[in-house]
Amino acid sequence: MKVFKFGGASVNSADAVRNMAQIVQSHLEPGKPLVVVVSAMGKTTNLLEKLVPGVTDDTHELRRQLEEYHLKIYKELIPCVDDADNAVQELLRKLDGRLATLQPSNEQYNYNYDQVVSFGELISTTIIAEYLNSHGISTQWLDARQLVITDNHYREGHVDWTKTQAACQRLVADKEALGCHQVIVTQGFIGGTTDGHTTTLGREGSDYSASILAYCLGAENITIWKDVPGFLNADPKYFPDTVKINQIPYNEAIELAYYGASVIHPKTVKPIQNKGIPLYIRSFITPQGEGSAIGNYHTISPETPLYIFKNNQILLSILPRDYSFIAEDNLQVIFGILSKIGIRVNLMQNSALSFSICIDNNPQLVKPLIESLKNMFRVRYNDNLQLITIRYYTQEVIDRIVAGRPILLEQRSRSTEQLVVPATSV
Ligand code: ASP
Ligand code: MG
Repeated sequence: MKVFKFGGASVNSADAVRNMAQIVQSHLEPGKPLVVVVSAMGKTTNLLEKLVPGVTDDTHELRRQLEEYHLKIYKELIPCVDDADNAVQELLRKLDGRLATLQPSNEQYNYNYDQVVSFGELISTTIIAEYLNSHGISTQWLDARQLVITDNHYREGHVDWTKTQAACQRLVADKEALGCHQVIVTQGFIGGTTDGHTTTLGREGSDYSASILAYCLGAENITIWKDVPGFLNADPKYFPDTVKINQIPYNEAIELAYYGASVIHPKTVKPIQNKGIPLYIRSFITPQGEGSAIGNYHTISPETPLYIFKNNQILLSILPRDYSFIAEDNLQVIFGILSKIGIRVNLMQNSALSFSICIDNNPQLVKPLIESLKNMFRVRYNDNLQLITIRYYTQEVIDRIVAGRPILLEQRSRSTEQLVVPATSV
């Protein structure tokens, strides 16, 4: 069994879905079902984030866009679909039902988020499964909320591996689902608790979903289909001359994803590394290309500096009110608050009297964080920053990237340089 993962950009229009279906079709092997994990279409997750109760008052236009976008793709792909009553509208009605009952509040934000945002994947996979079936590819749609079982840590569900494995084993044993179908389509990014609540695995979590399923189903390999030819040494959006890395050792991939290499979700590699399952990154635009492979290699090849940029960063300096040392007990309080709010620290540094953290500047989370911290600490911050990580740096490479910007925070190890700088030159 093989696992394919298609992200939002690979299914963002009817043509994109046709292209995706062609890739799937050309990889079908008799008697071997292909598990296809799909994200929400295009930028749907960003739109749904704004529909979470309490985020904005003006949801009418967003809700309309959500419907128009999906129905257009759906009808282009399946022209005979009923105008008034179809599977997508049914899901939209369910979403409306949820939106009407969820209570907007800061405490409920993470829970509400998952109940709303998960509709992106539910809708995309519904359209895609129906399209594949209409094209003679016998496809079974599966609800990932019954396969990927998590705890109730909303917006960043922790996988219950035993229960997820059991659910996957039941699927493998289910001759109806697997035996009679060429393709299994399921949602990336979402999971479910044992008591039936929807969870998500963190933004861009569909890669992780593919990896969880590959691990639990004992897949031969995973292919992640992207809009880039493979694992590049930098994001081509920010960097003109990228180099494709052909082979990446598992450990290196974990490090790179941890630092924010957006080509792959940070948690993706560990499960497949544990079972030695190779992961390929290939282009859905040029699917005949070789792509990159993550696997049991010793070094990256070719060897070259790697650059990771994280934008929209905020640097918080946390200082005890009474000039006491930032010691373990203070840090314990700070980490308790971070963990409770669900904030991931991208870089941290401490001195005698202050503790600095660089985090993504998501106002929904940063505001409550500052509020909580202020009870015990003074908090200063700088926003509109960029966090740059360079693996296998040279001084010349650092100077070129920093381009004269003031460095607010810097950390260097033998292989990795990290810098926090203003987003634009000043
Ligand atoms: N749709 C989700 C997101 O945009 C998950 C994913 O695409 O991997 O974050
Ligand atoms: Mg996405």
